[in-house]
Amino acid sequence: MTKHEIDCEQALDQLVEFIDHELPGGKHDALQRHLHTCKSCFSRFEFERRLKEKLGTLREAEVPSGTSERIKKLLKSF
Ligand SMILES: [Zn+2]
Repeated sequence: MTKHEIDCEQALDQLVEFIDHELPGGKHDALQRHLHTCKSCFSRFEFERRLKEKLGTLREAEVPSGTSERIKKLLKSF
């Protein structure tokens, strides 16, 4: 049981991969368990997750869908 537990340092180390779902099952579970029991790591996790969400939204907003189509039509009209 103890060998599956991770400490805060390990948890924060793997946090980004955890958010990206890139951790292998066992490590993912261990980190999830840690987040359930550790408030400071959990708030860090929430912060990183929200930051990632924001960045994802920004990236999509930079290139609105249909923009390239509009540019093509513009070029054709010349
Ligand atoms: Zn912790």
